[in-house]
Amino acid sequence: MKIDRILFATDFSEGSDHALPYAVDMARQYNSKLYFVHVIYDVAKTAGWYVPHVSIDEIYRDMEKSARAELEKVCTDGMRGFKDIERVVLKGVPYEEITRFAAEQKVDLIILGTHGRKGIDRMLFGSTAEQVVRTSPCPVLSVRLPQHVKNI
Ligand code: AMP
Repeated sequence: MKIDRILFATDFSEGSDHALPYAVDMARQYNSKLYFVHVIYDVAKTAGWYVPHVSIDEIYRDMEKSARAELEKVCTDGMRGFKDIERVVLKGVPYEEITRFAAEQKVDLIILGTHGRKGIDRMLFGSTAEQVVRTSPCPVLSVRLPQHVKNI
């Protein structure tokens, strides 16, 4: 089995934070490159809303700036010395961008949380984890938060 490239998808939620050590440890073990990917929701594209370009472009610029700062923080705090990383901010529908990037970069494994942020995002976009599992070109490791594990 070859795992040269791992994509860790983060929405900066508790769910993705919990999946981070799995990504770092696997990258270390397989000597892989680790991509940290965050997707900024493209509201206009997803919901088919009309949004004036001038204002939305400005909002996206701010969102991209905060996303880069967040990625920087996650990488610094969670990496425990691992260095072969690349931070990537994309814009669009999260599952589409994650799987497109994975195909383009020939990613061997995607790692994400089973739960992300709740609220309006989830209502609009549904489950990113589920859609990534359904459409990914490579295997996906989804990591569940302990409080969401059901006793069967
Ligand atoms: P969800 O299925 O939306 O509850 O999210 C499950 C997991 O998908 C999260 O824990 C993240 O690992 C990943 N994810 C969700 N939204 C995004 C996003 N916008 N960018 C990158 N990863 C995401």
